[in-house]
Amino acid sequence: MPDSRNTKQKQAIIKALESSPRPLRAEEIYELAKTHCPRIGQRTVFRNLAEMIKEFLLVRVQFPGQPVRYELPHADGGHHPHFICRNCNQVFILPGETPSVMDKIEKSPDYIYEGEEVIIFGRCVKCQ
Ligand SMILES: [Zn+2]
Repeated sequence: MPDSRNTKQKQAIIKALESSPRPLRAEEIYELAKTHCPRIGQRTVFRNLAEMIKEFLLVRVQFPGQPVRYELPHADGGHHPHFICRNCNQVFILPGETPSVMDKIEKSPDYIYEGEEVIIFGRCVKCQ
């Protein structure tokens, strides 16, 4: 299924995310992908993002009050901890793996537990 052109576009998207210390919005990925693949179109990028989510090549990142962003999956299959700047609202990827708190919380039968997310708040380098 993936022809070489398609693969080249996906590579440009992966390179864009590899070069970023934070998850990126689709528009930001498009701008960066153009530096790797100058003729890539915005619609193509958006279509590829949707495909790459289904193929587990990308992870969707969305926190309350935040736009949808994308990042590369954690190398070990775990989750990256995230940092949100309280001043500029930007989301960053922290090194390492998020420790699980699932086994430390009291479970309620009222809810179905599907996942967890650790968010560290503070001020980013630019906002300090
Ligand atoms: Zn900031």
